[in-house]
Amino acid sequence: MKQKSVHECYLTILRVLLLPVATLSSIILLQSSTSAQCGRGACISFEPGPTTIAKPPTTWIPSPNFGTRDSSPVVDSVVIHTTEVDLAGPLNIFQTASSQVSAHFVIAPNGTIYEMVEPSKRAWHATYYNSRSIGIEMVGFAGFRSTWNERNLSSLENLLAWILQAYPQIPLIHPVGDAYDFPSNQLNVAGIVAHAQVQPWNRSDPGQYFPWNQTLDAVGKQLAVPEPRSLALCGMLTFFVRSPLARRRT
Ligand SMILES: [Zn+2]
Repeated sequence: MKQKSVHECYLTILRVLLLPVATLSSIILLQSSTSAQCGRGACISFEPGPTTIAKPPTTWIPSPNFGTRDSSPVVDSVVIHTTEVDLAGPLNIFQTASSQVSAHFVIAPNGTIYEMVEPSKRAWHATYYNSRSIGIEMVGFAGFRSTWNERNLSSLENLLAWILQAYPQIPLIHPVGDAYDFPSNQLNVAGIVAHAQVQPWNRSDPGQYFPWNQTLDAVGKQLAVPEPRSLALCGMLTFFVRSPLARRRT
């Protein structure tokens, strides 16, 4: 009986000593592991993952049409396009120096991803947004719902997840509005944007049928941790709070 009391006493002291440690750890992890990336427009909250998202397989077809990025602003956005021509169009045009146009990636209807400019370089796809953005051309037509299928959207989601992890200053948001809503008619917002938002006077891509919410949700899930680490510590905290010491006080 006496031995049991001493044992309980040691346990109680241990719990009291560990309580503030567990509480502090939980607070720190809850603050550091939750990432709510919000701004104008759609907003996705997620717990950043501890593992590296692999770059999806790409076919390298280099374009000569690129430059160096300006030091400012940083890469904080992705511009989504539709090609308005079949696959051969962008592959040929982007390899032709005289065309003076390019994009970092072209995604075919079957999901194949062609990489034509390294993301660290400045591709020529969205005029004044080139320095701050990565350009993705989806082969298809803005006016056709049939442009979008499981294979090209899945490839786009995998590519976006990898890009957002590699470039953490690109938030997982699709902002509202377009260039007309900003000074000098120049869009000035981070996130995943439509070419139509950058140049609303002469571009409409990727068009009304592009599934923004579905795409952002899928990317958010790839960037998420199924069970946040903070929950495990919350469980530990609950155990300590429900200790015999606490029960005896009631
Ligand atoms: Zn475009």
